[in-house]
Amino acid sequence: MRGLYGWGKNIVRNYGWTNVIKKLMNKETKYVYNLGVKFERSDVTIYNPSQLSDSHLLEYSNLSDGLHLKEAIKNILIPRVVGTPNHGIVRQYIVQSLRDLDWHVELDNFHDTAPILGNLHFSNIIATLNPQAERFLVLACHYDSKYMPGDKEFVGATDSAVPCAMLLNLAKVLQEKLKPFQNSKLSLMLLFFDGEEAFHQWGPTDSIYGARHLAKRWHKEGKLDRIDMLVLLDLLGAPDPAFFSFFSNTEQWYMRLVDLETRVSKQHLFERYVNSGVVQHDPSRYFQPQALRNSQVEDDHIPFLRRNVPVLHLIPMPFPSVWHTTDDNENVIDYATTNNLALVIRLFTLEYLLGGGTKEA
Ligand SMILES: [Zn+2]
Repeated sequence: MRGLYGWGKNIVRNYGWTNVIKKLMNKETKYVYNLGVKFERSDVTIYNPSQLSDSHLLEYSNLSDGLHLKEAIKNILIPRVVGTPNHGIVRQYIVQSLRDLDWHVELDNFHDTAPILGNLHFSNIIATLNPQAERFLVLACHYDSKYMPGDKEFVGATDSAVPCAMLLNLAKVLQEKLKPFQNSKLSLMLLFFDGEEAFHQWGPTDSIYGARHLAKRWHKEGKLDRIDMLVLLDLLGAPDPAFFSFFSNTEQWYMRLVDLETRVSKQHLFERYVNSGVVQHDPSRYFQPQALRNSQVEDDHIPFLRRNVPVLHLIPMPFPSVWHTTDDNENVIDYATTNNLALVIRLFTLEYLLGGGTKEA
């Protein structure tokens, strides 16, 4: 694949997993040790996360609602190509779900021209607990599904119905716990990007339509500085995901995910927490305590990253084997893994917000 930033989403398919790791891991020279693990030094930003107490960890874990998560997935799991009626149905479902939970929701509407389908109307969905907040932790995913030529039905379970459902589920189960953040200086934003997928061939003008538009708009409006960190969820829901720390300036936050996973596991709060054997990694870990630099996986974070917004990219490496095939459907969803990941992300969100997301330049 060709693209502005070198390696694109085809990285795994074209090069194979071990070669990718070897190629990407041999460039770093400076390291720090965190939780006994060797990491590249973080030079840009130092975060001071504060840990959730054991009792809070237990209390917040018990809020899980797997049935709601499943229901949310079901509502999004239809072909939803930009410009089709289904796309509008899913958009309305997301908007209404969040409004029902007392979120402030606005649409960032715009037009752009895409190959094959021509002029299209796109809408990013921006949901905030407190639109007046000075700073935001942003959790993001994309809600469009990939256009497939012919009559192939592509519903994009991992790409990205499950991530979208996770964010709606987070809003639902944390509704009470998030109330204080309707008036706080640091608050939470959920961002559902439109038009992540390419219509013809992935490239600078045919991909991430929504993210490109929004990053540019907020840059002009001076709003990007209000984003503490953009946490982008993509390709989630399949068994045995392995995540890595992609960026040094958010590595301390990535390590909070590593730490939370360990703590939840120790308290036996995960569902069926074993490796299914589909992909061989550390058998009891989603968040690998390793850095993976310069991978340059192209996704919705790129226009923000290029404008210096700190990014935490939660995308498994390698991608699920069903990626961009019609097999990326309900059959690939591992609900235990999905619930477990949703839990870690929820705890992370609370830890960030309750800890004030202290940031020192
Ligand atoms: Zn995709």
